[in-house]
Amino acid sequence: MSNLEQAIEYLKGVGEKRAKAFNKLGIFTVGDLISHYPRRYEDRTLCVSISEAPLEQFVCIKAMVAAPPTLSRVRGGLELVKLRGVDDSGSVDITFFNQAYIRHQLLPGETYVFFGKTGGTLTHKSLINPDFEKEGKQGLITGCIMPVYKLSGGISNKHMISCMRNALCLAESEIFETLPITVIEELRLARAKFSIENIHFPSDYGCLELARRRLIFEEFFTLSCAMSILRDGRQKSESAIIAPGNVEEFYATLPFAPTAAQRSAAALCFADMKSGSTMSRLIQGDVGSGKTLVAASCIWACCKAGYQAAFMVPTDILARQHINTLKSFLDPFGIRCDLLTGSLPAKERREVKARLKSGETGLVIGTHAILSKDVEFSALALVIADEQHRFGVSQRGGLLEKGKSPHILVMSATPIPRTLALMMYGELDVSIIDEMPPGRQKVDTFSVGESYRKRLNAFIEKQVSQGHQVFVVCPKVEDSGEDFSGVKNATAHSQELQKALPRLRIACIHGKMKAKEKDGIMQAVVDGKIDVLVSTTVIEVGVDVPNATLMIIENAERFGLSQLHQLRGRVGRGQAKSYCILVSDNPTQDSQIRMKAMCDTNDGFKISEADLELRGPGDFFGSKQHGLPEMRIADLCADVRVLQSAQDAAKAYLERDPKLSSPECRVLRQRINDMFDKNSAAFN
Ligand code: ADP
Ligand code: MG
Repeated sequence: MSNLEQAIEYLKGVGEKRAKAFNKLGIFTVGDLISHYPRRYEDRTLCVSISEAPLEQFVCIKAMVAAPPTLSRVRGGLELVKLRGVDDSGSVDITFFNQAYIRHQLLPGETYVFFGKTGGTLTHKSLINPDFEKEGKQGLITGCIMPVYKLSGGISNKHMISCMRNALCLAESEIFETLPITVIEELRLARAKFSIENIHFPSDYGCLELARRRLIFEEFFTLSCAMSILRDGRQKSESAIIAPGNVEEFYATLPFAPTAAQRSAAALCFADMKSGSTMSRLIQGDVGSGKTLVAASCIWACCKAGYQAAFMVPTDILARQHINTLKSFLDPFGIRCDLLTGSLPAKERREVKARLKSGETGLVIGTHAILSKDVEFSALALVIADEQHRFGVSQRGGLLEKGKSPHILVMSATPIPRTLALMMYGELDVSIIDEMPPGRQKVDTFSVGESYRKRLNAFIEKQVSQGHQVFVVCPKVEDSGEDFSGVKNATAHSQELQKALPRLRIACIHGKMKAKEKDGIMQAVVDGKIDVLVSTTVIEVGVDVPNATLMIIENAERFGLSQLHQLRGRVGRGQAKSYCILVSDNPTQDSQIRMKAMCDTNDGFKISEADLELRGPGDFFGSKQHGLPEMRIADLCADVRVLQSAQDAAKAYLERDPKLSSPECRVLRQRINDMFDKNSAAFN
């Protein structure tokens, strides 16, 4: 057994009890420990004499203990250890609170290096609870760039540091190079051993930077290789061969001509689906770009070839809307479409399931209910997931078990910068719908304060008088009693609006309502029987009412940028000029940036880039939703340039050695295998 594999318990300074605390941090072996990188660093390099020490700053001071430290107890049981430190230039009062034992550690006449924040006055300087090391033994926590680690109960940072030192000593001869030498040389990266040592105990800031860059590169490079290999593997699995014949036959029945972007996205899917290997494709298109039609073409092809398709959506409302749209597309071809949601009565549910099993139903649409184990298909060959980022990658995996190896089409309305898409959906081919259906206009966007309320209501009236409809979105559903936050709730706001605009037909819809009720209201909206729909974000995703021209978002400061953009996408779908109004008083600085971005651009890609920057990728994708292995050091957002170069390097390298079979890839291959083992649920 190598030292790296040695259980953490047996590392010098750990032991059985502390090992448990290390385990909590995911550290089980010495190898795990040395890849527990610092979260940040504290600059403890600055050493000054007592007289030169600036006040209220963190500094290291080398001082001799002038006399035995004294212990005193004050009110409340507080214990104080006091001592005086001196050097050639002056003296400093040092106090420790509630650490009585310290008086035995600091010996009079001996010299120590103290690190702490200076206090007191220029003539009476003081240090409170400083860290200290004996002179000549320092370098762990004073006089250095000190690593600060993520800790768990029972381990102090100082203890972590000394264990880390021990681990590095022990493992020194076993830190092998993980990256191919050719890549290291080409890109002038630091070596593995240097990087590991300097990420923990940097000699200086230059070395730290080199180490960081190399380790970030390594993570991205490994992941990029893993994703490529995964993708190659997936494409080799066999799936139904779907050859649709002439798709013009389908297009000819539509009420409009598909855009060039829709045609080419569909053409790519057709090519995938008739290849004999499994399609795994992501279609990205801004809200309103017409993704549903692309999905419909694929379903048409699939059913025409005698197979079944399943369409997964995040909400009931959306499922109901999609079934109407898709029925209108598919009915002319005698393709039966069924809805299967959790809210369906038991009897209907049974019937739908029977039709799916017998093969009578060509397309089933539903929420995660179509994932449940008891739903059986006769010949499932295509699975479509709409608004993918709401589904975990592993949920996609669940569906895979249904068919032999169904083709997969994922549709996302949150455009993701390309480098990230490659990483997140590394196993998917990505195509982009970069064109809007004709006649679309920019949605004019404004942000206003509460003082505009009267004018806003007049504007609603004007839109309605021109025959259009209005959406109003509130952050909350109903009054939660003692709520003085001023945050609008849909229920009360719709009543207020009705009072202010008595002649308009105003309705309210929210997620707490029964499905039937929601359905009825949505249908009334689609039929033009409602002028103003006040809602929570239930309408955020996908709802399509081309006659709606005004979107008002109350308490806009409460929404994220992508969410605001999605909401805005509900209008501007028809020919008429559309508007989005963000209502907010006292926005925070962040929310001001969000609102400005909304007013400045309608471009979903720009919006998502700004959003990513504001929130960071963890939040952006919903934590863990993306199913990527956790990054130890790299940040998908901040390190995007390194990401790019790692992706390029991985691609170039795999062209030379597609299976990573050369000896210089031994460690890399091992790592990728481990990654697949640990993340098999996510990767499948
Ligand atoms: P999204 O990409 O947001 O899912 P949808 O598929 O809901 O967009 O389409 C948005 C609207 O555009 C729908 O009303 C749809 O009927 C319409 N649409 C889609 N494609 C076209 C087209 N080629 N020409 C005109 N209108 C279209
Ligand atoms: Mg959609």
